[in-house]
Amino acid sequence: MLYQELIKKIEAKPRVNLGFYPTPFYKLERLSKQLGVNLYIKRDDFSGRNLFGGNKTRKLEFLLADALEKQAEYVFTYGASQSNHAMQTVACCNSLGLKSVLFLLDLVRAGMKEPKANLLLDKILGTEINLVPPLEGESLFEAEERYMVLANKRLAELEAEGHRCYSVPMGGAHPIGSAGFVNGFAELYAQAQAMNLKLDYVFHANGSGGTMSGIIAGKKLLAPDCKVISVNAADHNEKDLEAVVAMANKTLAWLEIEERVTLEDCCMENNYWQPGYEQPSKAGNAAVRLLASQEGLICDTVYTGKALSGLLDYVRSGKIAPGSNVVFWHTGGATALFAEDSILGDLLD
Ligand SMILES: *Cc1c(COP(=O)(O)O)cnc(C)c1O
Repeated sequence: MLYQELIKKIEAKPRVNLGFYPTPFYKLERLSKQLGVNLYIKRDDFSGRNLFGGNKTRKLEFLLADALEKQAEYVFTYGASQSNHAMQTVACCNSLGLKSVLFLLDLVRAGMKEPKANLLLDKILGTEINLVPPLEGESLFEAEERYMVLANKRLAELEAEGHRCYSVPMGGAHPIGSAGFVNGFAELYAQAQAMNLKLDYVFHANGSGGTMSGIIAGKKLLAPDCKVISVNAADHNEKDLEAVVAMANKTLAWLEIEERVTLEDCCMENNYWQPGYEQPSKAGNAAVRLLASQEGLICDTVYTGKALSGLLDYVRSGKIAPGSNVVFWHTGGATALFAEDSILGDLLD
């Protein structure tokens, strides 16, 4: 598909401006030399709305436009207590005059006594915070199921009072939100074209799958030879991958585009998330240190550090040919560095 054609399809959809785009895209000279590849960075940590941007803002431009069209008054969303997505949702809602309600799973069990990082920002921004502690022996999935029941109860309560509510799924993982990353890939493609650069590899951190599905759809349309490596920040299985493909195809249908993606367009890398979500890894933290010491850039221990550790491992183990053009898509999240010690791990040593 032609770039201009795709842009036309995207521009036909309702959207509100919440970020500052295009986000910067440039070469990391020192790390490129050290690694023997041309390493570029896409700075979605610079997306806005405030100083603490990230990848969710692209999705919210389409999701909150949909909320406004549906005349919502309240926007519900969900995540962990240090959710980057929840904080960006509150910030974006505030700028549009929408009220927000958060249901957050208190994975680090820190409570509301001395809120830090994103939870502190949620409080300052002003929103209804419902903090749900996990139960002993409960899996992440079970906890999420349980607090969604609580959230739906609250939502029904507000609706019964006559308030219209709009629900944004965890991470903004929804076909409408993923349109933001079809657009994001188009933005990256245009930047690469302007630099006469062929995109060989794109690495990004994967959580809810919304970012991945948008990027995969975008690359299928514009740069089918580009390999997108989606590095999981939490354990995922084959079913999750199928859900990403299904979401990408719903997004394409929503954009009134006929092309479809398949499993062959995806590479969901499940080797770098251990020991767990919001639990730092040695390699991830080493990647955080490397980017900081060589380029003066900050990434986080939960998502971007783990994604970068995957990229570094691919390059060092020879899975990527020397001289390749490799993009590290920085998706934000550095507020995690100001969260509870358990999220930092050996960065404190
Ligand atoms: C949410 C998030 C991701 C993952 O994005 P998904 O669309 O949920 O897969 C990656 N990096 C950071 C910093 C995030 O906050």
